[in-house]
Amino acid sequence: MGSSDFSMTIGGRAVRAENWLDVVNPATEEVIARVPDCGRAQFDDAVAAARAAFPAWRDTPFADRQAALGSIAAVLIEHAGELQALLTAEQGKPLADALFEIQAAAWWIGEIAKNELPVTVTDAMPGQRSTTRHVPLGVVGAIVPWNFPVLLAVWKIGPALLTGNTLVLKPSPNTPLTTLRIAELLRPILPPGVFNVVTGGDALGPWMTAHPGIDKISFTGSTATGRRVMESAAANLKRLTLELGGNDAAIVLDDIDVDATAEPLFWAAFKNSGQVCVAAKRIYVDDKVYEPLSVALQQVAARAVMGDGTDPAVTLGPVQNRAQYERVKSLLADSRAAGHRFLTGGQDADGAGFFVPATIVDNPPEESRVVQEEAFGPIVPLLRYTDLDDAIARANASEFGLAGSVWSSNPDRAAAVAARMETGTVWINSAQNLTPYAAFAGQKQSGIGVEGGLDGLLEFTTPQTIHTALPA
Ligand code: NAD
Repeated sequence: MGSSDFSMTIGGRAVRAENWLDVVNPATEEVIARVPDCGRAQFDDAVAAARAAFPAWRDTPFADRQAALGSIAAVLIEHAGELQALLTAEQGKPLADALFEIQAAAWWIGEIAKNELPVTVTDAMPGQRSTTRHVPLGVVGAIVPWNFPVLLAVWKIGPALLTGNTLVLKPSPNTPLTTLRIAELLRPILPPGVFNVVTGGDALGPWMTAHPGIDKISFTGSTATGRRVMESAAANLKRLTLELGGNDAAIVLDDIDVDATAEPLFWAAFKNSGQVCVAAKRIYVDDKVYEPLSVALQQVAARAVMGDGTDPAVTLGPVQNRAQYERVKSLLADSRAAGHRFLTGGQDADGAGFFVPATIVDNPPEESRVVQEEAFGPIVPLLRYTDLDDAIARANASEFGLAGSVWSSNPDRAAAVAARMETGTVWINSAQNLTPYAAFAGQKQSGIGVEGGLDGLLEFTTPQTIHTALPA
């Protein structure tokens, strides 16, 4: 085994495999490590380990499970420097953003740990007392994408373990390293089998969603894959939480302070090089402020620095993997072929690495691909409107309903527009700020179920009611 070979964690032990998968640094296109390509028998072992660990973990006092989440947070903070470097190397995001992700994950799991599960007692039925608790489901299969590998894993690890489930987690094969390292660091901390991490190629996800030993799938990824997950999970009626794609609209009203809005709006679209499920992916701007906002956005774009995330000056890293890079470039090529104008970017980058310059397309037709499709990369259309009702209608004319944002100096006007958006989340004068205290749920084909808040926590449980006969 080479020094850059990583191991899976199954039943609290390091497990390697017969076959390996290369992991590529997207800024250099160099192979930086190998991870196990989990075999079928090993995957069955992981599920068996999680099943075996379930009864004792379920019966562990709630306070002890809260403490375990606190220990996970402490491990993330203690090893933040190492994890940050690993995350930048495999994901491409700038070092500062990688550190932010690790710290945010630690904070998130610490806050999740503060929850209590509600217990409802009623004597309304004559002769009996009914007590409803929220009990765990069993073994959770967690499937994570490559844009925020650590934070999105923690969104699943925290609630699943707190509520008494055990877990088999599958990171994306594009970004498995930081997750495998975290699991390794947690081996001495969590009871064996409570938290298993497996890595593999295209076969592994479907094994997980079909496995009869798994009771729930918590999935974050694309809508296309989400449909497959749902179909496969039907076999044993697995519970499902699906956090899927989006094509979020930002609606900019005519009363904005242009200078104050340009910077946060630019980063609403381009943070993590646009690879954020809740990035602003279509920006509708009132005709009265379209020109000054275009100029202000060009100025912000000129200050952004694209490059290898290990350079501290860099604010825009590469697209994370070749397939996504090709997809973003095809959207760019489509815009060029259609004769769209670009306020910034628009050309391909030279040299190694999956780099695409931050691109703002200047008022392309509503039906163009760059408007209708989720880019999930650093390309966004700026769209002119003259009628606010029309802008809201265009924003809502999507199969997606993940999130959106409204930008205005008038809170009442903004709130009225927000209320008409057909999305699970709307920000006013900000974007992307998700919290562990509030529900995050996709409408339409952006998902099923909830993450975040008490609603998100309860998705890892099912109600159990105990009726006690009362003395006459
Ligand atoms: P993806 O759907 O290709 O992959 C997500 C995960 O599913 C990966 O771990 C992948 O290996 C696994 N997978 C692939 N095929 C599978 C199958 N048939 N069965 C089970 N698992 C399978 O998505 P991606 O390209 O990694 O991520 C980008 C997408 O994720 C975008 O659409 C983005 O909007 C979405 N996303 C959504 C949220 C959210 O919270 N709503 C957050 C981040 C990303």
